Amino acid sequence: MQLRVVGCHGGDTPKHRTSAFVLDERLAIDAGSLTSGLDLKLQCQLEAVLVSHAHLDHIRDLATIADNRAQYGCKPLLVVGTVATLDVLKRHFFNGLVWPDFTAIPTKKNPTIQYKVLKPEVRIEVAGFGVRAIEVTHTIDTCAFIIDKKGASVAYSGDTGPTDRLWEVLNEEKDLRALLMEVSFPNEEQRVATSSGHHTPQTLLPDLMKYERPQDLPTLLYHIKPAFQAVVEKQCAKLKGLNLSVLSLGDQLLL
Ligand SMILES: [Zn+2]
Ligand SMILES: [Zn+2]
Repeated sequence: MQLRVVGCHGGDTPKHRTSAFVLDERLAIDAGSLTSGLDLKLQCQLEAVLVSHAHLDHIRDLATIADNRAQYGCKPLLVVGTVATLDVLKRHFFNGLVWPDFTAIPTKKNPTIQYKVLKPEVRIEVAGFGVRAIEVTHTIDTCAFIIDKKGASVAYSGDTGPTDRLWEVLNEEKDLRALLMEVSFPNEEQRVATSSGHHTPQTLLPDLMKYERPQDLPTLLYHIKPAFQAVVEKQCAKLKGLNLSVLSLGDQLLL
């Protein structure tokens, strides 16, 4: 699987973009920067977006990609998430007030977006991939994703603090190629990290140790807050027994 890093930060500046990743130019994982980071052609190539949760830094560019795709005449874009996440999108985002309801534009029969419900731990096919959602531990309903193709899988943590079920499921995976893992705040900001459901390097280490062979699992870190980028990277570099790297904008990786 080819991974394109469109946005990998926990905040937004001209040099940082909020979470959005693309597999094989077809399947997006979160929509924090799908329009600020992709040209129109790549936006139109997407078949589906997996939405981990309804926080704005993960959904914001659903608004602008829907608008662009409506103008560009693209195929309907599948917006995939749990019932709880899709319910927030319908009621509070594409609600005809904050933004139009693109499931009825240009027509209900030929919409710009379509919703698809993902039940936790039930694998479905999306855009040629197998996809499972695993619930993680954040301030609202949030899922990790395990995405598989031809027997190999990659995982995406979603926003989470210390969690358990994800590691149980990942320990059962036969050919897990990589984990995209959140870390947001430095150790000094533990109180805000805990109250906002995020990791610091010091909580990341024991969580990753719940995986049986963390040293063999390429763990690609994302969601660092721009103000803390340097200090979080420094603290992560000191963690022993792991296989960590920090993702950068524009990275393209073969997993
Ligand atoms: Zn969040
Ligand atoms: Zn976030």
